[in-house]
Amino acid sequence: MRLEAYVRTDTGPVRENNEDNFLVDEDGGLFVVADGMGGHAAGEVASRVAVDTIRELLEEGPSPEETRLDRSVQDPADELRERLRYAMNQASYRIRKEAQANPQYSGMGTTLCVLLVEADQAHLAHVGDSRVYLIRDGQIFRLTRDHTVVQQEIDAGRLTPEMARQVPHRNYLTQSVGYHGPVEPDTSTRPLLPGDVFLLCSDGLTDPLDDQAIAGICERTDLADLAETLVHEALKAGGEDNVTVVVVGVRG
Ligand code: CA
Repeated sequence: MRLEAYVRTDTGPVRENNEDNFLVDEDGGLFVVADGMGGHAAGEVASRVAVDTIRELLEEGPSPEETRLDRSVQDPADELRERLRYAMNQASYRIRKEAQANPQYSGMGTTLCVLLVEADQAHLAHVGDSRVYLIRDGQIFRLTRDHTVVQQEIDAGRLTPEMARQVPHRNYLTQSVGYHGPVEPDTSTRPLLPGDVFLLCSDGLTDPLDDQAIAGICERTDLADLAETLVHEALKAGGEDNVTVVVVGVRG
């Protein structure tokens, strides 16, 4: 399978800094979005450390043997997900270290979502509320479950997804890389099909646009224009946050 990727990021109309970071490596099959948080530009630092750590450990990295938490893992897909978990925890550790060394960065953290393609499989890992979607056969599937308070309330039946989009605490995370020490990423593996399109995005996209709106834009937009169009539509819909979209198309 051949991958064709596009990325677009925008600071948005309100903020001074873009605290989102990303990685797009078509040859390595590695794609990352991180949405940092913390005052005094600390969010930028947190998301950059996270992206750099993922790149280092999964690309230039030490041996797979070293980069996993559970050494009893045998299955290759299990092993890759273990490496993703390890790399995200290592990112968390490095961000905390940076914050301890620089008091102005105290309390910084970041979301982190990673797509790693190997052979004909997609491995995903995420912490926080940056999301991964799959568009397949004209349908959109959300592959990640937000680590947010409102997602817990939706799961418990106390909020509907529609209500959750309106409440003031909708962005409160239940875990983030760096701010929380050890993290427990959700991970998954799924087979790729030619024509699949993956979207990795920060909440600057999904706050102003719901899944249906995103699906509609995907349906009528060419792959090469999709990242730019989604960012444009998010800002047009009133988005004020930093917004980042990575689009990965799978060719046969
Ligand atoms: Ca954000």
